[in-house]
Amino acid sequence: MTATPARAPVRLEDSYARAVPRLSVAWQASDAPAPRLLVLQEELAAQLGFDPAWLRSEEGVAFLLGRVPGGVPPVAQVYAGHQFGNYVPQLGDGRALLVGEVIDAGGVRRDLHLKGSGPTPFARRGDGKAVVGPMLREYLVSEAMHALGVPSTRSLSVVATGEQVFRERPMPGAVLCRVAASHLRVGTFQYAAALGEPQVLRSLADYAIERHYPHAADAENPYLSLYESVVAAQAELIAGWMAVGFIHGVMNTDNMAISGQTIDYGPCAFMDAYDPSTVFSSIDHAGRYAYGNQPGIAQWNLARFGETLLPLLDDRTEAAVEAATAVLLTFPDRYEQAAARVFSAKLGLPAPDPALVGVLTVLLEEGRVDFTTFFRALAGGAARELFTAPEAFDAWAARRDAALPADAGERAALAAAMNRINPLYIPRNDRVEEALDAANEGDLGPFERLLEAVRHPFDERAEWADLAGPAPAGGPPHITYCGT
Ligand code: AMP
Ligand code: MG
Repeated sequence: MTATPARAPVRLEDSYARAVPRLSVAWQASDAPAPRLLVLQEELAAQLGFDPAWLRSEEGVAFLLGRVPGGVPPVAQVYAGHQFGNYVPQLGDGRALLVGEVIDAGGVRRDLHLKGSGPTPFARRGDGKAVVGPMLREYLVSEAMHALGVPSTRSLSVVATGEQVFRERPMPGAVLCRVAASHLRVGTFQYAAALGEPQVLRSLADYAIERHYPHAADAENPYLSLYESVVAAQAELIAGWMAVGFIHGVMNTDNMAISGQTIDYGPCAFMDAYDPSTVFSSIDHAGRYAYGNQPGIAQWNLARFGETLLPLLDDRTEAAVEAATAVLLTFPDRYEQAAARVFSAKLGLPAPDPALVGVLTVLLEEGRVDFTTFFRALAGGAARELFTAPEAFDAWAARRDAALPADAGERAALAAAMNRINPLYIPRNDRVEEALDAANEGDLGPFERLLEAVRHPFDERAEWADLAGPAPAGGPPHITYCGT
């Protein structure tokens, strides 16, 4: 046992449980027979005010499993949600707990949340557990998303519990500690709206405004302004996903955060060859959550969010519907603008050019070109080689060329800027599986190496050369399973 440093953990708060007591229940994490810290994000720990050495101590690891001496009581949050389009009136933290809120070094309130901490009153038939592979997967992908500049929950730690958890076979149990701007979901609002207690919904909306969109409090209609803010945040978020080829996989309304962060990494994956119909999740037979459907699904979810706010928007239902609809209908334009901006930047264009982006996506799809590889190759002048029929690419490249400045120095600066936003290293499916397989055998080396690379996605390093680029063609198609 290592000596426990003197410094006590940071103070935890419970503003959510106090603001809307009807939306959570106090609950304790299950015991772990033989805890072992697998991975700790030390930089994040320090940002939150923790001494990383303390978190590595026996007491600290117990803390990362939900044992908080003298702290606020952990809670399980309740929510509802549309799963694959079907409404489920009560979901909630079935295997998760909100340990408390921390004010970070920047003065921002953040949730510390456990996944896999044992069954709660919302577990339905689940065992409340999680296993090492999927928790390391969420850790890796969320940290990659953050490094890529896409708003995301973060991961502080994964602790193996020493317990065997039965899935298709016995698997090692684990608890993830994640850090989020909050855990307010569209589904939280759906649950509150369905309660039929107007004060609960109002308190929830007021809490969301205060925590995420304080400017809305000063608007003529604060709740309409809240709606606008969430619509705007989601348009930016989805454009960010599309720009890195990210496919969430389960965009149910309970997996959409009001804060605008990516949340709940389950059967998510990154697209290799560009194809809008790409879908990886084993449970998404209809392709509802395919890459190219994500903006449309986001708007669908936002419609469900808007419905929950109607009673707050106006006493007259018709006027409320009209106001909400007007805001919802701004989503496509907001998304198109955000996407044009980020994709044009990826191409090094001095100004957004949606037409040029549109032609490119057709070429990438026709050529089955690896999405991530293309943008680095373009900056390096080697994109032509990626196309089996390069003539069409030549025509496109000539158009792009005409949009660039003539000066060689300015061009070099644009290429350098491209390499600061277009990644070399993303969590490629085959690499992730390799790393998780090794971790399951007790070897964390490949996981740690991949993690280090995806945390520095833009830095070209010779030692990581094998991690850039797609898996050799001809392998079986990748399938992701729900992270249970
Ligand atoms: P997810 O697919 O992780 O977004 O979870 C959907 C819902 O199922 C949430 O309410 C989870 O809390 C619940 N859930 C998922 N896995 C389990 C489990 N092993 N035990 C209890 N509840 C679970
Ligand atoms: Mg979820």
